Amino acid sequence: MPSLSISIIACFLLLSSRFSDLEKSLYEHATNITKQVVTTSEYAIVFSDQDMMNRILQNALENHDINSVQIFNSEQEIIAELGKAAPLTNNFLKSDINIAEFSDYLALTSAIHYASNIFDSTLNAKNNVFISSNHRNVIGWVRVEVSTSETQIKKYQYASLVTFIFILFNILTILGVLHLSKILMQPVNKVSLALNKLAKGQFSTVKLMSFPPEYAAIQKDIFDLTERLEHHNEKLLLGIEQSTEDIRRSMDSMEEKSAQLYIANREAMESNRLKSQFLANISHEVRTPLNAILGYTKTLQKDITNKQQRLYVDTIEQSTNNLLAIIGDILDFSKIEAGKLNLESNNFNLKSLIDDVYQTLSINLLSKDKQIDLVPEFGKETPEWFVGDSIRVRQILTNLIGNAIKFTHQGSVRTKVSIASQDKKKITLSFHVIDTGIGIPEHKINRLFKPFSQVDTSTTRQFGGTGLGLVITKKLVEQMHGKIEVSSDPTIGSTFRFTLDLKQSNKLNNDKAPLNRHIILLEPSTTYKSYMHRYLNEIKVSCTSCFDLEQVISVLSKEQRTTDAILLSVTPDEQSVLEAKELILYAGQQFNIPCILMIQPPGQIANYPDLKGLCSDILLKPISHDRLYNALSNLNHTPIGLQPQQPPKSLDTEKLTRLKILAVDDMPINLQLLSHWLQPNGIETSLAYSGQQAIEMASIEQFDMILMDIQMPEMDGMETTNELRLLEGYENTPIIALTAHALGSEQQQILASGMNAYLTKPIDEEILLNTIDNWCSNTETLQDQIDAKLINIFDLEKALDIVDGKTDIAKEMFDMLADSLDAEKKLIQHHLAHQDTEKLIEVVHRIHGASKYTGTINIARHAGFLETHLKELELEGVEGVAEDFIEAIEDLLNHRQLIPWPQTLDSSTTNA
Ligand code: ADP
Repeated sequence: MPSLSISIIACFLLLSSRFSDLEKSLYEHATNITKQVVTTSEYAIVFSDQDMMNRILQNALENHDINSVQIFNSEQEIIAELGKAAPLTNNFLKSDINIAEFSDYLALTSAIHYASNIFDSTLNAKNNVFISSNHRNVIGWVRVEVSTSETQIKKYQYASLVTFIFILFNILTILGVLHLSKILMQPVNKVSLALNKLAKGQFSTVKLMSFPPEYAAIQKDIFDLTERLEHHNEKLLLGIEQSTEDIRRSMDSMEEKSAQLYIANREAMESNRLKSQFLANISHEVRTPLNAILGYTKTLQKDITNKQQRLYVDTIEQSTNNLLAIIGDILDFSKIEAGKLNLESNNFNLKSLIDDVYQTLSINLLSKDKQIDLVPEFGKETPEWFVGDSIRVRQILTNLIGNAIKFTHQGSVRTKVSIASQDKKKITLSFHVIDTGIGIPEHKINRLFKPFSQVDTSTTRQFGGTGLGLVITKKLVEQMHGKIEVSSDPTIGSTFRFTLDLKQSNKLNNDKAPLNRHIILLEPSTTYKSYMHRYLNEIKVSCTSCFDLEQVISVLSKEQRTTDAILLSVTPDEQSVLEAKELILYAGQQFNIPCILMIQPPGQIANYPDLKGLCSDILLKPISHDRLYNALSNLNHTPIGLQPQQPPKSLDTEKLTRLKILAVDDMPINLQLLSHWLQPNGIETSLAYSGQQAIEMASIEQFDMILMDIQMPEMDGMETTNELRLLEGYENTPIIALTAHALGSEQQQILASGMNAYLTKPIDEEILLNTIDNWCSNTETLQDQIDAKLINIFDLEKALDIVDGKTDIAKEMFDMLADSLDAEKKLIQHHLAHQDTEKLIEVVHRIHGASKYTGTINIARHAGFLETHLKELELEGVEGVAEDFIEAIEDLLNHRQLIPWPQTLDSSTTNA
């Protein structure tokens, strides 16, 4: 590149200097000729010598580059001319020589001067030299045209030569450079090739390469490098081989381990499932004989009069109940473990439920050393009615309050209920179960909610129990979207706090009308006294509190006119009962003031039957608000003992007398018990010991009702019912299941198999007779019953319409949706927990779409609500809507078996 630039510059300089030389010489040549013509023609003009002029012109024209020569006189007229001149373009100038340049010629004009005396001029030639041309006379003009073409040709020739030289020079230079670079690059290329091969690992090829002698040092270095790299490479390869082998081996062992783990996991899951199954079965098996024990115990209780024997039977009943409770716990635990525990939804009065729990548990105060006050404190602002699973709420409270009573010897067990938060649909309630018992050491608190764990695990432990209660309680609380926690101090006692989400009920509190009464209250316990005061205030009952009987008598004598009643707490010792009796008689006879007794524990009153006959009412502690209100509003001045006994609500025994019932159970003892209960009521009872026998008997004889055990060998209750329904005359006969565990989906299974109702073992005589009474007068067919259940859940007509009445397609579509719902439900709960609106919409939209074509009207409706809510308001306040949606899914899954799909054409033709 530099040589090219230099050569271009050199060419340019050469050309320009040569061109200017050529032009200069042309100018000089033309000027000389012009001057020569001027000088020589002066004389010829003066003397008008035409010949001379021609000669001069001839001479001038002999120069080959002169085109034309013209001589003009002073008036600028041509006086002599030679050659072909171009037409005149400009005026003559007054100067000596004027040169005009044209494209292919030069025009030189010059004035011809004449000195005044031609002779002088010759004489004074020297002087004339000093006379300026201006002072001389112009006698004519000369115009010479000189051709530039020759100069031009010379220029071209020269330019061609220079260009040729320029090209030649550059070609040679390029060739030279190429050659040189080839010579120089050869070893470099070799080095690069060698490095390239090294990079590719072709060490042997590198070793065979030869370099020019001047690169011997580089060659040596490259060979050294090759050796080292080769060595390193070999080591590396060895290492890789070793590592690959190691990885392969560890992968093999990992695979083996993961297979082992998989198998172990499956085995664990299977054994867990078997364990739950076993627990469920075993509890069923245990319940069945217990049913008989309890049934006969109750029958015995009616007839036994001997006190001692009565005590034994009571103990048997108590122990059986305890055993039942334990079995219930085990069954619940196994259900929770297997994820099969479903919550029901019903309207219930929480206040009465708590009162009831306290009442039931107060039986535990029978032991003499327990002096505790059982106080349910229901917040004034808290509504009484809710919608939820009352059985499970009762279970939670029974367990916590039961524990509190169990572990408390003195003081009180209080239960506080208040509202934690509330929105339009649901209320979160906060419960506190506070006891003043033995407490739990801090380091043992975290063990409480683990299965089978107890704080005192010593063999000498004082308290019984399975250690399952709190685990079940915790699970139930969590299932109701609540949280449970405990704080405890062995010197003060324990407090179990938990929350529950319940739905608002549209039933209203039954607010009591004010009583406007005045009473005298004898209650030694301050806790209980303040509990009573609070409630008495609410119902506008004023009271004077006393701390002993003497005080009561003195107050009575002062306030006899204003006092409506005396509320008397009696402790179970003989002295206290005697004193109470005297007071009751005194108040009744002297002032006609009735007494209401409050006794604790309840069982003891049986020991003082004469008290019963004297007072207006006897309230069992813990005293429920309702019962206190009733006792105060219906003050009885004639003691209860003297009232005619109200006959218990009797059944329509005449209706039962005409009944023929078939009882089916594989356990003879249960059948005996059933017939023992039924026959005295005039019911004609036939017994079948297996499903098969039942079918045989039913096909011979028509029964009005069938009592059916569920778990039986060979043919279970559901199968037997299916068969029975096919018999003529048994399409609508009430069949009542007797089952040990009937919760959630099992209930639906029982109904789906064609049974009308179920009773849970252990069966109570009264409930059994009432159920029979209800069902024998029921005209509703089984299908009516199923339809009533399905009406809001599933629309069969719609499902069939969409597929033009093709049952198998409709059923397939429905099954596809229903099969996926369990997983979808979990997905929704997962996305809800992670607040992932987008994914939530995706799932709900999917279900919404599918539900429109499968007749699942309830799901479609709730999915629609939820989808719109999510799109409009996102997650704000979505909980209630989502809960309804999940409930709709559960409802469908629970009732799935009940759907009466029509027989498909294929099967009906084969049947025919
Ligand atoms: P259990 O059927 O044995 O009572 P739980 O799960 O109900 O089983 O209770 C587990 C253990 O927790 C009990 O054995 C007892 O040691 C302790 N515990 C529970 N409630 C209380 C309480 N209110 N006061 C003291 N200890 C308690």
